[in-house]
Amino acid sequence: MEEKKKKPVQKTEDAPETKAAPKLTKAEEKSKATTLRIVAIILWVLAIGFEVVAILSLLKALYIPWLPQMWCMIICIVLDLICCIIAGLLWKKASYLDPFKKTNNKVGFVILNQLGVIMAVICFLPLIILLFTNKDKMDKKSRIIVTIVAIIALLIAGLFGANFNPISAEEKAAAEEEITDTVYWTAFGHKYHLYEDCHTIANSEKNPGTVTDAIDAGRTEVCYYCAHRAEKEKDLKLDGLNIEEGVEELGGE
Ligand SMILES: [Zn+2]
Repeated sequence: MEEKKKKPVQKTEDAPETKAAPKLTKAEEKSKATTLRIVAIILWVLAIGFEVVAILSLLKALYIPWLPQMWCMIICIVLDLICCIIAGLLWKKASYLDPFKKTNNKVGFVILNQLGVIMAVICFLPLIILLFTNKDKMDKKSRIIVTIVAIIALLIAGLFGANFNPISAEEKAAAEEEITDTVYWTAFGHKYHLYEDCHTIANSEKNPGTVTDAIDAGRTEVCYYCAHRAEKEKDLKLDGLNIEEGVEELGGE
């Protein structure tokens, strides 16, 4: 066997770290966010539709001969929940791609970011109230089962809909302006890191990208330790960045 072809090793060892461009441009982020929001709203409308069917079934205004009332209601609740979960996730994704403004609109900012929770309540609470008030429309055992299923569904939908780490348009813009180097994030964390060797992610697999990529992926906060290290080493300005406050009390160092 004659295998003596020497491949020229094309190593670009000394190539300077090229500044990666974000995966999506601003316009792409905006249009993707708009699409996600429209789909989320359609899903919430569908979810309300399933809730209405469940209510009609409870009130015996809807009767399906081959489907017992309890099962009809449970199926509607599950479909309602599926729509709610997907809508909540899409809505959150959109608020990372194209965050809402906070300036002069603090209440609106909270409402828009937590719309998933509000919609979860709208999609389940009326049904739950009716289950408690219409005692004669269903046998006791079935009514208790359906009520429990509905309450669990409300909690799950609320949990998926809640945005625990919202970011504002202002904070995203400040991060993009201030942080131009590669940042890192892990599969399950909600923060991004400015240093690959940050001790908080030492044992995790790290995704590199621009700060825009990190925020688009839902990593809305800069790591406290990285931020303060960069403040000293790179003269990073922390004003306007989304940093978890008070973490020094918990973490030490
Ligand atoms: Zn860090």
